[in-house]
Amino acid sequence: MYKLFSVLTLSILMMACSTKNKAQNANASQALLDAGLTPVVKSEEVWKSELSEMEYYVIREKGTERSFTGDLWDHKGDGVYTCRACALPLFDSKTKFKSGTGWPSYYEPVKDAHIREDTDHLLGYPRTEVLCNRCGGHLGHVFNDGPQPTGLRYCINSASLDFVEREEP
Ligand SMILES: [Zn+2]
Repeated sequence: MYKLFSVLTLSILMMACSTKNKAQNANASQALLDAGLTPVVKSEEVWKSELSEMEYYVIREKGTERSFTGDLWDHKGDGVYTCRACALPLFDSKTKFKSGTGWPSYYEPVKDAHIREDTDHLLGYPRTEVLCNRCGGHLGHVFNDGPQPTGLRYCINSASLDFVEREEP
C-alpha cells in the first residue's frame, strides 16, 4: 500500500513538473514569435566574414560613418529600411525625414520591439544608443529634437541599413 502511494505521489509530482515546464517554454517561445524576434547570434569571426569593413566597424564596433558619406542619407523611395546584418525591418520610408545631418533620419521605428535602446558615454556625455533587437547590431542614436508626431530623431548609420522596396498590393 505504501509503495503504491509513493508511486502515485511521484507520478503526480512528475506530471505537475512537466506541465509547468511546458507552459513556461510555450510562453517564452510565444513572446519571441509575437515580436518576430528569434535572436540572431553569431561569433565575431562570422560577422567579420559576412560584413564589409565599414559595416563591421559600425554595426559590431559601434562606430559612426562620416556624415554625408553613406548610401542612404539622401535615399528616397517607398519601402522599408531593414537591418543590414539580420534583415529585420526597422524603419518605414514614410517616417524618414530630411534632418540635414547627413545620416538617414526617422521619427519612429516600424515596431518598438524591433529596436533596443542603451545609454552610451562614448563622447563623455550620455547618449541613447539604438540597436537592432534581433542581432544586437549598433544602428545609431535617438535624440529628442525630431519632428512630430513623436518629436524623436532616430539618427541611423547607412552602413547599418538596407532598403527593401514596398511590394505592390
Ligand atoms: Zn539586426
